[in-house]
Amino acid sequence: MAKIKIEDIRKAAIEHNWTLLSDEYKNLDTELTFECNEGHKIYLPYKKVRDKFICPICQQNQYNFTKEIIPKSKKVQRSIGLDQATHITGYSIFDDGKLIYADVFSAGADDEIERDIEIKNWLIQLIQNWNPDIIGIEGIQLQQLNNKTVGVTTYQTLARLQGILMATCVEQNTEYVIVPPATWRSHCEVKGRSRVDRKRSMQMKVKEWFDITVSDDIADAIGIGKYINDKHKKKVEIFNWE
Ligand SMILES: [Zn+2]
Repeated sequence: MAKIKIEDIRKAAIEHNWTLLSDEYKNLDTELTFECNEGHKIYLPYKKVRDKFICPICQQNQYNFTKEIIPKSKKVQRSIGLDQATHITGYSIFDDGKLIYADVFSAGADDEIERDIEIKNWLIQLIQNWNPDIIGIEGIQLQQLNNKTVGVTTYQTLARLQGILMATCVEQNTEYVIVPPATWRSHCEVKGRSRVDRKRSMQMKVKEWFDITVSDDIADAIGIGKYINDKHKKKVEIFNWE
């Protein structure tokens, strides 16, 4: 077997979205310094890193979700936040303030109504699998660019989809709230003048709160879920036993 060179390690690190910070490699047992894709510093010998590239800090982060469905306890309020786009739906799930899951669903169909049905069927299963108490759906808004209204076609597409999502929640006996974008963004203290800046700002909030790097769709869904979780608490009935 050919001797490992530092260039090989550097290349392998890049392939795993890591960076090798050390500039000297002696052997498999000497400690090297790496930086993972989440910016954590890792001090391990190459023997422990190679083939796997598993960051010990990422690994113990509870917010790196597996695909496992977590059963809902009766005592908690479970809220779901949905960030709706025409093809990609970001979603987040909170149990009493704790983020327990976040992911995206991609609808593949090119035809609008077929895609809407695909999203509807997905939402039914999301509700049945996770049993949320409440779902936050982001309100739609007309995009303004240089004081001109743009994206009217997209707006109409999203309006039709929103109606379908609302009806699906009702059919599934699940409470929902339409959340205007400005409302959840101000609750999460999202900053930025442009759409791109605001999306980036929410991604940075998620990194700050949970130490995970997520797509803008997931980040926005987490913002919506957090707003719903904080502002729409289930009314707990208090009985007076006297
Ligand atoms: Zn890490």
